[in-house]
Amino acid sequence: MFGRVVKFINTTALCAVVLFFIACNNGGASAPEAGAQKLKAVVSGYAPYAIAEAVLKDAAALQMLVPPGTEAHSFEPTPQNAAAIQNADFFFFTSGRMEPWAMEISDGRGIALAYELPNNNPKDPHVWMDFDNTLAMANNMAMYVARKYPQLEAQLLQNTSDFNRQIQMLKRLYGQTLANCQTRDIYHVGHSAFGYIARNYNLNFKPLIGATFEGEPSARDMAQMIKEIKTKNLSYIFTEEVLNSRLAEVISKESGARLLNLYTIEGVSKEEFENKTGYRRFMMLNLQNLSKGLSCA
Ligand SMILES: [Zn+2]
Repeated sequence: MFGRVVKFINTTALCAVVLFFIACNNGGASAPEAGAQKLKAVVSGYAPYAIAEAVLKDAAALQMLVPPGTEAHSFEPTPQNAAAIQNADFFFFTSGRMEPWAMEISDGRGIALAYELPNNNPKDPHVWMDFDNTLAMANNMAMYVARKYPQLEAQLLQNTSDFNRQIQMLKRLYGQTLANCQTRDIYHVGHSAFGYIARNYNLNFKPLIGATFEGEPSARDMAQMIKEIKTKNLSYIFTEEVLNSRLAEVISKESGARLLNLYTIEGVSKEEFENKTGYRRFMMLNLQNLSKGLSCA
């Protein structure tokens, strides 16, 4: 129901008033009120964390299980993580493909946000790299929380609606910026996390490593990548934050192309986490570097 609600609120202000009225008269379970104790929401990694920051805002205290500075795909949960989930009101994760450990550790209580996505590629778990998917995940999260705590529905509607507006702006900016670029090749010394962006904006994404960090890149793969970068005479190539930076430096040096960073958002550095960088800012940084690296107009 919440999904329909959020779509509807964008088209008519009257609807918002009506829904607000319904939300406020829903009675419902013991929701935290202003100044009362917050909800406790545990999230798997940074992508659901960033969505929860936008959707739940002050309504919930968030705990992220994959620590900042670690690689998300190889994460193994601890018994403390299981206890944190048991003590929380909600446990959100992305999907069984992204976090294969999530359902087991949560005794089935975990909520996968990546369902009924408009643009799902089952082979690529980095669904939040598509803006419409991210909005669907935000809606799904809001729906679950509003169902359990109806008193929060109006607040969640407002937050989700604000997020929707911000993301639509970002989406337009991506479309405009990436429409005219001198090259459309993204040579990425990293894993296959940007397939959605490549598909949505007609870019050729060439990652060195597969979708979930499985397997080391071979010397042959590296040599092939260097050869192609040199042949195409590219000024810039890309890398990502959590990866061993030596690999990227070697390929940069050998190919003569300079490195730019792309943020996967599945992980986050300690500094970025403490600075509350957030989904929008990371996607904006990605656009800036793509625009620079691909020489977009
Ligand atoms: Zn990944």
